[in-house]
Amino acid sequence: MDLFEYQARDLFEAHGVPVPGGLVARTPEEAMAAATRIGSPVTVVKAQVKTGGRGKAGGVKVVKSPEAAREAAERILGMDIKGHTVRAVMVAQGIDIAEEYYFSLLVDRAQRNWLAMCSVQGGMDIETLAAEHPDALARVAVDPRVGLDADKAMEIVAAAGFAEADRAGVADLLVRLGEVFVAEDATLVEVNPLVKTGNGDFLAADAKVTLDDNAVFRHPDHAELADISATDPLELAAAERDLNYVKLDGDVGIIGNGAGLVMSTLDVVAYAGADLPGSPSPANFLDIGGGASAQVMADGLGIILSDPSVRSVFVNVFGGITACDEVANGIKQALEMLGDQATRPLVVRLDGNAVEEGRAILAALNHPQIRLAETMDDGARLAAELAVDTAATSRQEA
Ligand code: GDP
Ligand code: MN
Repeated sequence: MDLFEYQARDLFEAHGVPVPGGLVARTPEEAMAAATRIGSPVTVVKAQVKTGGRGKAGGVKVVKSPEAAREAAERILGMDIKGHTVRAVMVAQGIDIAEEYYFSLLVDRAQRNWLAMCSVQGGMDIETLAAEHPDALARVAVDPRVGLDADKAMEIVAAAGFAEADRAGVADLLVRLGEVFVAEDATLVEVNPLVKTGNGDFLAADAKVTLDDNAVFRHPDHAELADISATDPLELAAAERDLNYVKLDGDVGIIGNGAGLVMSTLDVVAYAGADLPGSPSPANFLDIGGGASAQVMADGLGIILSDPSVRSVFVNVFGGITACDEVANGIKQALEMLGDQATRPLVVRLDGNAVEEGRAILAALNHPQIRLAETMDDGARLAAELAVDTAATSRQEA
């Protein structure tokens, strides 16, 4: 999970990294109040979006009064920066910047190691820096078993070419950033620019942090950092029901058990739809897992059928631990729970443990929306064709 700058700034502050004061604001009035509270003669109003280059896009404004902060927020809120709508700004204490540097620490998966990158030429984006001044970007491997200790920090600042007089001050800040990285289970901590002020102090003037979602169980407090405004509403509803659901662009709803089976189902459906009119394709990924209950099936079908772009549904289940008769009963109960909501055709392919019993249960149901398929390929083709038919019908109705 990527954090907003204001959230990363707060984490930095909590771990003793020197940062300018900063408060988040969601309206121009809040921005004015924030500038008053911060109280510095100069404040900076910064768009809070999870992308870089805000400065270039006009999303960072240096202002000299709370009223000017209000006006800047008015201009920045609602702005579109590289496809991200600005819903909040951070009002930060203004700093007298003498120099701008670059620092990042990240998990280097290819090397099974950590990597620190540092440069005395900061401010510009890292891709540009790496392309235009590759020699100015020091890359130093960091052993996770040792961490970013004082010695390693001194090695990094020396490699980056900091003046002797600045090395200790910058190294101290890097050690603290290393503490954030470990304590918060981050996979990336990036500061661009890390600045030297007119007084010779060092501050993290921008903050980018990616947290490791796999470590969330160690950090119950990280849950509230999630930005639900950017999450698809169907994915949110699915997450509330503990479903492994990912929204996709197409029109064939997919339910399967086991991530591998569901992924190959997506491929087979996309393949089957490729040559049909409108090229129907998967509308979602949904893995109901092994041991899925009727309730899980109902929740899954409910989410999929509440997606208006779904025109047909393909349920592709291989009975293992959960036998096909249980799955069939799940579908039956799901349809009972859904009642009138079950408005689109449902292609069901069952195979594996207790397949005959499962098919018999569905056949006996005689539900107008259910079609049984023998194989995965047959089911995918039928579901894709039904998506085309439903599209045609709804055009005629319109
Ligand atoms: P980014 O463009 O999204 O990376 O946003 P940054 O937070 O890095 O801000 C962009 C630039 O704005 C920085 O490189 C600084 O040059 C400038 N800036 C940010 N905060 C201040 C500040 O407090 N004072 C001054 N003078 N400039 C600032
Ligand atoms: Mn920056």
